[in-house]
Formats: sequence, structure tokens, C-alpha cells
Amino acid sequence: MDGPNLVRRTAAAVLAAALCGWLSMLAPADERVRLAAARSEAAAPAPKPEPPKPKPKPPPPDCTRAKCLALTFDDGPTESTAGLLDILASRDVKATFFLVGENVAENPGLVRREHQAGHEIADHSYTHADLGRASKKKIVSELTRTQDAIRNASGVTPDLLRPPYGSTSKRLARIAREMGLAQVLWTVDPLDWRHRDTEDIERRVLKDVKPGQIILLHDIHPTTVRAVPKIIDRLSAEGYVFVTVSELFGGKLTPGEEYTELDSGEGQGLP
Ligand SMILES: [Zn+2]
Repeated sequence: MDGPNLVRRTAAAVLAAALCGWLSMLAPADERVRLAAARSEAAAPAPKPEPPKPKPKPPPPDCTRAKCLALTFDDGPTESTAGLLDILASRDVKATFFLVGENVAENPGLVRREHQAGHEIADHSYTHADLGRASKKKIVSELTRTQDAIRNASGVTPDLLRPPYGSTSKRLARIAREMGLAQVLWTVDPLDWRHRDTEDIERRVLKDVKPGQIILLHDIHPTTVRAVPKIIDRLSAEGYVFVTVSELFGGKLTPGEEYTELDSGEGQGLP
């Protein structure tokens, strides 16, 4: 083996060794990168689980055939409203709340709760005013302030109005029509604001209730709230279903018009 050959071979061997070293260094480096990547993936927040989808709402019954009743609660929300919401939730019953604007401004959380639970929210004036005797300016102020308060609290703009004391007028009807509010009165009135007696309220409601009717109650009275479980349980056992006012009329209420019950049409009350 001559000199230059030996030099070339040695150089090749050195190069090969260097290359091998470089390759062997490369592999762990690559591994390190992979490990780091895996670690950073583990540290990254896990993708958010899908929020539970709300239970699909069953379609409301056809109240021209089913035995429907609309429970309505006026003058709230106040502290006794929370207990009522628990009672309604435990029986999966939806009701309609006619809210006084002043109370909405004081208890926006309860209004939100009513809406989130699927109840219908409606306007009952801002100060519980006698709208049937009020001037145009007063009516517009009472209704607009209440609509705004309810919208601020729940995001909902009501399309039902119950004039306090059932006191209405042509002027109120015209303004209600312009504001997109149907007027909802009632069929069954147990005078629960006067008779603060739970058994008396139960008896008065259960006595002659009929399909298609609207029951007037006040959730501001604890004596009334305590009557609700028995009213619901007894009437459910008789085959009644509870719906909101809009559902009672199949969603077809005309602004400005007055409603006291669903006209007994053909077949109403049949199972
Ligand atoms: Zn009232």
C-alpha cells in the first residue's frame, strides 16, 4: 500500500465515521423533537366537549282536541316566584308569567330563570296601572318601560299583555295593536289575592275548570304558590295538559284583540 492510497483510505474512513456520528446524533435529536411535540400536545387544552344539546321540545298539543289549560301568574317576579319555578320544573309544567316592570327591574335573575325554563313571559304594565283609564302617553310609557325591562333581563320581547284589573279600553286596544301586543284576560279567577288560604284556592280552581280555559293566579302570594302542586296533580290526573297562553291559541293571537279562553271548537276536550 503506497502513501497516497493510505491517505485517501484514512480520509474516507474518517469521513464515514464522521457521517455515522452525525447520523447517530441526528436520530436522537429527531426523537427529542417528537417527544417535545407530544408533550406540547398533552399540555394543550383538550378540545372542549360538545355542550349537552337541549332536550328537543315536544311539539305543543293541539288544544282544539286535547284538554289544555293555561296557568297564568301575575304581578311578579318576587321572592316567592323561585319556589313556584321549582314546583313547575318538578312537574314539567310550562306557565305564562305576566310581569310588573318594577319587579322585573328588581329581580332580573328570576325573569331569566322563567325564560330559560321555557315559560312564556308577558307584559302586565310597569306600575300595575289601570290602563283602561289611562291617557295615551301613560299607556305608552307603562308598556314601553315594561317591554324594555323584560328585554334587558331576558332578551325576550313579549307579545302578550294583561291589563291590570282586566281594565281595558279602545285606546288601549289600539296602542296594544300598534305595539304588537295581544290582550290576555282569564276565565278562572279564584280571587287568590283576597283569599290567602291555600285549600280555598285549590278548591276554587278545581271546582269548574274546563278545557281551553285560562287560570288567573298571583305568584307574589306564598298561599297561592302552595296551592299549585295540588292543582297541577289533580288536573293532570283528569287528563289535562298545561300549556302557555300562546300554545293554547296555537300561536295565533292577533295584537290588540282580547282573549279569555279558547273557544270550544269541534272535538275540544276529547283525548
Ligand atoms: Zn295584576
